[in-house]
Amino acid sequence: MSQNVAETTGAKPVQPSIAEANDAVLRRFPFDDTQDMEDARRGFLGTAREDLVKAADGRTVWDLGAYGFLDQDCPDTVNPSLWRQSRLCADHGLFEVTEGIYQVRGFDLSNMTLVEGDRGVVVVDPLISAETAAAGLALYRAHRGDRPVTGVLYTHSHIDHFGGVRGVLTDDDVRGGVPVLAPEGFLAHAVSENVYAGTAMGRRAAYMYGAVLPKGGLGQVGAGLGQTTSTGTVGLIPPTADVTRTGQQETVDGVRMVFQLTPGTEAPAELNIHFPDFSALCMAENATHNLHNLLTLRGAEVRDPRVWAQYLTEAVDLFAGACDVAFASHHWPTWGRENVVRFLSEQRDLYAYLHDQTLRMLNEGLTALEIAERMELPPPLERAWHTHGYYGSVSHNTKAVYQRYLGWFDGNPAHLWEHPPVEAARRYVEYMGGAGEVLRRARQSFADGDFRWVAQVVDHVVFAEPDHAEARALQADALEQLGYGCENGTWRNFYLMGALELRHGPVGTPTGTASPDLMAALTLDQLFDALAIRVDGPRSWDADIAVRWNVEGRDPVTLHLRNGVLTHGPGTGPAAPEPDAEFTLDEPTLRALLLGTLPPADLASRP
Ligand SMILES: [Zn+2]
Repeated sequence: MSQNVAETTGAKPVQPSIAEANDAVLRRFPFDDTQDMEDARRGFLGTAREDLVKAADGRTVWDLGAYGFLDQDCPDTVNPSLWRQSRLCADHGLFEVTEGIYQVRGFDLSNMTLVEGDRGVVVVDPLISAETAAAGLALYRAHRGDRPVTGVLYTHSHIDHFGGVRGVLTDDDVRGGVPVLAPEGFLAHAVSENVYAGTAMGRRAAYMYGAVLPKGGLGQVGAGLGQTTSTGTVGLIPPTADVTRTGQQETVDGVRMVFQLTPGTEAPAELNIHFPDFSALCMAENATHNLHNLLTLRGAEVRDPRVWAQYLTEAVDLFAGACDVAFASHHWPTWGRENVVRFLSEQRDLYAYLHDQTLRMLNEGLTALEIAERMELPPPLERAWHTHGYYGSVSHNTKAVYQRYLGWFDGNPAHLWEHPPVEAARRYVEYMGGAGEVLRRARQSFADGDFRWVAQVVDHVVFAEPDHAEARALQADALEQLGYGCENGTWRNFYLMGALELRHGPVGTPTGTASPDLMAALTLDQLFDALAIRVDGPRSWDADIAVRWNVEGRDPVTLHLRNGVLTHGPGTGPAAPEPDAEFTLDEPTLRALLLGTLPPADLASRP
């Protein structure tokens, strides 16, 4: 918003058509409904005295003051609906959900919930970083006394719900008997998601959350689900007990919990928790104050909206009649039995509607692009703020449903074997009369406010002639205007990141170095899989090498590199090839070797 941002990033003012569209949002939606503002502030007990949460090396991991600018009026470079959502997400501090249940909010992308037991406090979802989780726990203790952590619960397998665990719990605590509970399958999914496609996901997540964008009206204003991700120390303490079925009851430090298992919803391993003694329901990330992602822009396997909707129905049936408040690991709670039922039911209708209507239209022969363009929410759902696409969007969720059922191919044979981007772009630009002619016409489209088309067509010039300065500049301008108009936080970040890179070159993004805790939690199978993914196929086409690993206390395993693929299987038996080499070693040594911390040359020197 400040002049500085424009100077450093080259950000341009808003174009009239986007400004008008943003202004129209103010008239279209019920901005005078302030229930969310009241709920987001309700039970506020206080916040940290210092804005900055720092790592041991002095690096800033989180800045509580970074979004203070949201207290100002929404500038015309931001969709007012997104501004409103970001303002709500930026509230930070300790909040009482109900007597005995507290939430630390605004200290990370996610919330940490603290449930008081007989002796101490049970922590639900300890944020992304140890530093922010520790700061949250310190804030809680400043208000509620120095209670020990007597249990930890991960609601699901995403990193913003377990990564900060070492800020609230030590290995000694676990050895001392403090339980760590998680849904069945938690560990396998928590680590596999960060390993198989982790590098690409990390890179794309940098675009999705816009961490390097300047914060402000010309830059990053939030991500819809929360403001952004903290950048501290990620860890993982494996669960000591699994929740394996709906209806399972556990009592930790006197806190009674009844679980609903919801696999295949927002995460492959996830659960909701009813706290009967508090008349409270934790909805994990299954019902939050936005339309969530059926397919996140960072990339993931497509989620199942049909199952998601069914589990929301089940949650209402099982628990809503005995709940005075529902809260989640993002956003603010919903109070009042009727409100809880309405909220959960509308969330259910939202996912079910997108699922059913996408299928209806794809069966009518429409393609994903066409369905996304045609899909509209029923008016009552659109009027509810919590159904808005701040994180997921109607557009990309519709495409996700199509992908789930039909995949990438739209059935048009012309799309079966298209030229890849650079090859196609060269031909398009030539057919269209050269780069100069494309840009001349695109500038007219820009003036007409057709930024979608400018982005689509100038993309060809950028791919055909990556050094074409005018093309890059015009493309940046178009992406930026699209960003200014977005209600979706992650779309805005993607667009503005694109503009930033076109103007200033690649900003460099993390390449996914998984934390030692996550690597340690990989099974040997997963480690061998991870190794296989790194094999350069063409370079190893001619190799045929078999290595047998005799790992103490395990069945032997044979790794076989042939046809450019590294497979692993039993070390003996009919399918096992004759090994070219054989190693006998203990598991820690094998792990160190596979993780690259022990150079193969040093293996022989090991006792
Ligand atoms: Zn989350």
